[in-house]
Amino acid sequence: MPTERRNICCAYFQNMSYNFPEKEKEILKFWEGNGIFEKLREKNKGNPSGRSGREKRWSFLDGPITANNPMGVHHAWGRTYKDLLQRYKAMQGFDERYQNGFDCQGLWVEVEVEKELGFKSKKDIEAYGIDKFVEKCKERVKKYSDIQTAQSIRLGQWMDWENSYFTMSDENNYAIWSFLKKCWEKGHLYKGRDSVPWCPRCGTALSQHEILTEEYKEITHDSVYFSLPIVGKKNEYLLVWTTTPWTLLANIAVAVDEKIEYALVEVKGNEKPEHSTELSARPSTLQNKVLRFWVAKDLAEKIFKQDFKISKTVKGEKLVGLKYAFAFDHLPKVEEVAEKFPDTFHTVVVTDDRIMPITVEDGTGLVHTAVSAGQEDFQLGKKLGLPLIEIIDEEANYLDGLGEFSGQNAKKNPKIILDYLVNESKKGMPWVFEISPYKHRYPTCWRCKTELVWRVVDEWYISMDKLRKPLEDIVNEITWIPAFGKERELDWLKNMHDWLISKKRYWGLALPIFECQKCGHFEVIGSKEELKKRAIEGWEDFDGNSPHRPWVDSIKIKCKKCKKLVSRIKDVGNPWLDAGIVPFSTMHYFENKPYWKKWFPAEIVCESFPGQFKNWFYSMLVMSAVLEDTAPMKTIFGYASVVDEKGEEMHKSKGNAIWFDEAVEKVGADPMRWLYVKANPAENMRFGYHVIEEVNRKLLTLYNIYTFFSTYVDKKDFPSDTKTASEHILDKWIISKINHLIGIVEFNLDKYDVANAVLAIEDFFINDLSLWYVRRSRKRFHKDSPGRTGAIETLYYVLLQTAKLIAPVMPFFSEQMYQKIKTENMPESVHLYDWPKSENQADFDLEQKMDEVRNIVNLALGERAAEGIKVRQPLATLSVKSQNFKVLEHELLDLIKDEVNVKEVAFDSNIKNEVELDTRLTETLKEEGMIRDIIRLVQSHRKEQGLKPEDEISVRLSVSEKDQSIMEKSKEFLLKEFRAKEIFIDSTSQPLTTYEIKIKKI
Ligand SMILES: [Zn+2]
Ligand SMILES: [Zn+2]
Repeated sequence: MPTERRNICCAYFQNMSYNFPEKEKEILKFWEGNGIFEKLREKNKGNPSGRSGREKRWSFLDGPITANNPMGVHHAWGRTYKDLLQRYKAMQGFDERYQNGFDCQGLWVEVEVEKELGFKSKKDIEAYGIDKFVEKCKERVKKYSDIQTAQSIRLGQWMDWENSYFTMSDENNYAIWSFLKKCWEKGHLYKGRDSVPWCPRCGTALSQHEILTEEYKEITHDSVYFSLPIVGKKNEYLLVWTTTPWTLLANIAVAVDEKIEYALVEVKGNEKPEHSTELSARPSTLQNKVLRFWVAKDLAEKIFKQDFKISKTVKGEKLVGLKYAFAFDHLPKVEEVAEKFPDTFHTVVVTDDRIMPITVEDGTGLVHTAVSAGQEDFQLGKKLGLPLIEIIDEEANYLDGLGEFSGQNAKKNPKIILDYLVNESKKGMPWVFEISPYKHRYPTCWRCKTELVWRVVDEWYISMDKLRKPLEDIVNEITWIPAFGKERELDWLKNMHDWLISKKRYWGLALPIFECQKCGHFEVIGSKEELKKRAIEGWEDFDGNSPHRPWVDSIKIKCKKCKKLVSRIKDVGNPWLDAGIVPFSTMHYFENKPYWKKWFPAEIVCESFPGQFKNWFYSMLVMSAVLEDTAPMKTIFGYASVVDEKGEEMHKSKGNAIWFDEAVEKVGADPMRWLYVKANPAENMRFGYHVIEEVNRKLLTLYNIYTFFSTYVDKKDFPSDTKTASEHILDKWIISKINHLIGIVEFNLDKYDVANAVLAIEDFFINDLSLWYVRRSRKRFHKDSPGRTGAIETLYYVLLQTAKLIAPVMPFFSEQMYQKIKTENMPESVHLYDWPKSENQADFDLEQKMDEVRNIVNLALGERAAEGIKVRQPLATLSVKSQNFKVLEHELLDLIKDEVNVKEVAFDSNIKNEVELDTRLTETLKEEGMIRDIIRLVQSHRKEQGLKPEDEISVRLSVSEKDQSIMEKSKEFLLKEFRAKEIFIDSTSQPLTTYEIKIKKI
């Protein structure tokens, strides 16, 4: 459609703007002052549904937000969905819990408190006092949960804020105790010794779940090709490669693949390979000697370039059993293992493809196996019965018994191992073949970004063997939105290891595991009452405190096997236990089963999905599988991440992060909400002020229609009934359209397809309501128009229904619109209305015909634009050539005539789909065009002078002599169109290119 015609309705209000943030604050006051939310809850409380007489309940389960920082714009995306769905169901009369959740315990809070206090390590925390530290963590949670609550209210979210749940609550912690006891009774809980990923700063293991793909960083490390002299062979070496030289002290074996072909490669000692670095010192004593290295045959060329000769090749199995020496064999800890395990220490072993597959893509085909310092290494060692050498403590410092390395930090000083090897090489043994920088993806701590190491430690696990199948069944019971969620969850279930649930930290769930130091027996305590009953010592110190460290640590119970006193293990729990229990704890599963049965399972949970398949979704499913063997929710709704306008991740350091407070004060909550819910939740959402401007423009179009209505219609003329009997074709059409729309919105919201619901509303108010209905109906709103009552009744009905439809999405804006058209007998807030019913007034035949009309109009206006003829210039005939057109009623033909400004519309059922305009201008048509021009000019003068529609004016026209008689002829018509009391028409002999017009208010 040509732009000049686009916003005629808006043209009345060109200077009008709408200050979203300011208006929203007024509405917040209005809601609060009048207790609107409380009235809504009251309205739906125990609401019986018509048919069954049972209460209508809709159970929403909130995923707890970490109360650790102010809310970001990405949180507001999810909160908008949550609020929208709850508001929609409330309008449908469902009773709801409206419970918000805060996630409180765990490393994320600890790390921030450590930063606040300037702590560097766990030693600082212990020196400060665990009790004081834990109190600080609680304070931080309190502070940020208050801030997030205020921010959420500002977003328009309606929740029972006084009743938010906190995962640090006694109730939540004891609920997890009950769960863990059940795990123990079922035999799922065990203590395992494993090589685990470990953060040396946080001093704790990370579970597999916590090492997300995004925590792998591109990091360049020095990699080293090192040579191991084979025992009993002269000048013959195994050439091995590693990207983690710090683990070399833990070397136990070298693994080969029995099927790969290995070659013995001869190299001359004095010729430095081209690609070698400074550091690959070739010892002078070996000059001119021939050195022989074993490597995978396919890698020989890559490693040695051209200066080599292959003297023989064998399958890997032939190398198995070879023994070798290494540069660290003199260290006491290493010697000890060598003496104790002479058969397995420093031997070539065969790998297991399922544990540690060997490829010939990089490296040498011989793999350094450090049993204590790598997960695969540990698994292979376990399978082959290899010993291990523990080399680092919890901060990654080398342990005692490692000579000059003891006490040095393996990650902070990675050079010490390489420097040592290089120096030793200078003394005669060619330990180092080459050192080169190597870029790889290396895991870091998700909390503090420190590079991880691997350590062998005792940790506690929930075994997944028996749970895998029931979990898969549960995943299949749930509806996943987007649908790919199901595959992702199943994929994770297939690949996950046992769940590592312990952490060697302070602020978290106190794992209720009591392990006897004497006989090794352990027990799990399932409740506070049980603990009290079993306590032999320390109850007085604990009583009155929350079940956290350090208070709970003072309790001792008696070992059931050997009668010794037993303390709790010091570990705290994985934080996903805290969030995973909420379908039970927040619905009082352990203390009020009837209540729990009323609300369990939840209809839906709604969270950002990156990460949650392994975390919150997963932990809820596991806990529900153990406790009830059923799904804790019917639907899981996931949405992606918020990125900036260019599609890049938002980062504080990049300077492109937008804070919620900043955004909401700048553009208001509702435009943000509208933007959020229009997005496809499966894809990252681009957020920024330019895209919001576009949203604002559209919302303003809607606002202008309400303003148009309240400007042209006095409050006393507002219809008392929201029914209309208007027979006008446009009225019948828009009523049909909005009833149709109500059905579409409801259909989509019922299947949680929020974007399609909202896009349909937007299409309605822009394309149907503004660009067609209001524009074509404007004249009928004039005071003396015969169709006025029908138009008023119709538009009123449409505006009221529209306000209800947008109420769940834009609670402020809809309220503001509603207040403009509200009369005394109506509910005080739009949010106290029931969801509108589609009243079966959809007339599809009419809708289809109107589509045809609009299609023809678009084509015809396109023709006009192509011919350069203004729409104001009337033309004689429009011929429509189409096979498809229906027989159009004369009212519809009139719409075409008016809109295209032609005298006649002729139809011709030709195969071609086109329109043809008769562009010949007769004198009469030219005169009419001129009169229309003048009418438009007068109207724009009225507007410039700020006159209201009802203001009467006096007009003075100066036209050429020739035109004067034409004007005189049309005087009556002009008076009416100008809404003028009097017209004076002068003529001037000078040729005029335009008309002179003067108006004044009288
Ligand atoms: Zn860390
Ligand atoms: Zn015992």
